Amino acid sequence: MDKPLVVITGASSGIGAATAEAFSRAGHPLLLLARRVDRMESLGLPKTICRKVDVRDRKAVKEAIVNAEAQYGPTDCLFNNAGIARLGNIIHQDPQEWDEQIDINVNGVMNGVHAVMEGMVERKRGTIVNMSSIAGRKVYPDHTVYCGTKYFIHGMSDSLRQHLAPHDVRVIVISPGVIETEVLDGVTDRKTLADYKANKVKMGGGISADHVADSVLFAYQMPQNVLIQEICITPTRQEH
Ligand code: NDP
Repeated sequence: MDKPLVVITGASSGIGAATAEAFSRAGHPLLLLARRVDRMESLGLPKTICRKVDVRDRKAVKEAIVNAEAQYGPTDCLFNNAGIARLGNIIHQDPQEWDEQIDINVNGVMNGVHAVMEGMVERKRGTIVNMSSIAGRKVYPDHTVYCGTKYFIHGMSDSLRQHLAPHDVRVIVISPGVIETEVLDGVTDRKTLADYKANKVKMGGGISADHVADSVLFAYQMPQNVLIQEICITPTRQEH
């Protein structure tokens, strides 16, 4: 039987790209969304539509999903993964960096939820995986607004789960620790970045995005009446 459609936001690098590869290996058709469409296309995955979509654009997210569903059928899993980390000392930080994180990490995730939720409720089937972070469970130095956006994911997902569980729709939160990706490339606060890197060295480095991808796939592949509510995955030596 044909496998159902899986939608992944932020699939042009890091965890999103690794998860796209894992679901593709498992035989799923994919809709991949991000701004760098060339990077998604270069993954070379079969039965995959790559669309240049900014998750802040609610209409564009919805349209891309509606179009992909016309080709591959209803979305069975949405991985709301796109996100940015503009870590920095809050006292000196440009508030534009606050806005950007809130717009992408919070509103971007809600735009994904909005695009698939009703259809999943109608079909009494579906899985929404929301990307949080270990920084959505406790605070870290210079993570102020980033932590705020990821705490939002935890709170919102707990409430969303209450609403969707009676319709057999699953809501999963994934909370990684330090993963080797490009996520810190946009950090402008040099001291913050140096401190983060020193901490990373202390724990022996981050772990591969492939492990996060495998965890998402594992949770998704559980039977629909089995819900892994949250996955917290860190390097073994990440103490905090
Ligand atoms: P990357 O920077 O490698 O990937 C981020 C992805 O998000 C890219 O594909 C990027 O694509 C996409 N993205 C960013 N902004 C937008 C936007 N406005 N519209 C659409 N796509 C967007 O980092 P990671 O893989 O590490 O990050 C993925 C998620 O994992 C994030 O939510 C991050 O907060 C979370 N996370 C990461 C951890 C880590 O240590 N790496 C730890 C805990 C959580 P493009 O720029 O092409 O649009």
